[in-house]
Amino acid sequence: MEWIDGSGFRLVVFDLDGTLYDQSCIRRRMLWELGLHCLRHPGDLGELKVIAEYRQARERLADEGAQNIGRLQFERPAASLGIEPGEVAEVVSNWIEKRPLKHLRRCRFAAVEELFDRLHSTGRQIGVLSDYPVREKLQALNLTVDFIAAAADPDIDRLKPDPAGLEHLMSRAGVTAAQCLMIGDREDRDGACARNAGVRYLIKARSSEAPHHFRSYQELLRAWVGVK
Ligand SMILES: [Mg+2]
Repeated sequence: MEWIDGSGFRLVVFDLDGTLYDQSCIRRRMLWELGLHCLRHPGDLGELKVIAEYRQARERLADEGAQNIGRLQFERPAASLGIEPGEVAEVVSNWIEKRPLKHLRRCRFAAVEELFDRLHSTGRQIGVLSDYPVREKLQALNLTVDFIAAAADPDIDRLKPDPAGLEHLMSRAGVTAAQCLMIGDREDRDGACARNAGVRYLIKARSSEAPHHFRSYQELLRAWVGVK
């Protein structure tokens, strides 16, 4: 990992999914839960298709830099599946938002809380910016931050890599782009979002091939030892 002199940062903005917790850990648990559910309720097998279609629609909306995502994220998959947007919203609420919550704490990455404590104890503010709802997940992860923002919030209404959410957080925290650091897990979303806002960033990756990649929060804590 490249050395980033942390002393200039006043705000550190984290992505949530895949950044604060291990997504493969959640996927394994949810696949098991979904599989059991479909065995007991074979009529609900179509919900798998709804989830897949919803995820694809979200990726396309992000690529397009679309607005009205709160509505389009349900309307588009509904149109291609020939169902009502409300049905998509119900499946998403159940399988993507509510049911994973009980697994999150066990899948939280090691040393995240220590890093948050270090940032707070050295006077830094912490933000979380996600393309999905934030509040319930942070509660489930047992993490406390200063600012949160989600893509579908009315005053943002843009998915990453659009910089709207990051700029919104910087404005609320009263910091400039040079005083902000973004930490995420996707180069094409979090990394691009940071670049679009002129913000430096780090990517949590399985291998640290690029200089701005890091593998674990322990690694990040070690790199920031002594940073005031
Ligand atoms: Mg992510």
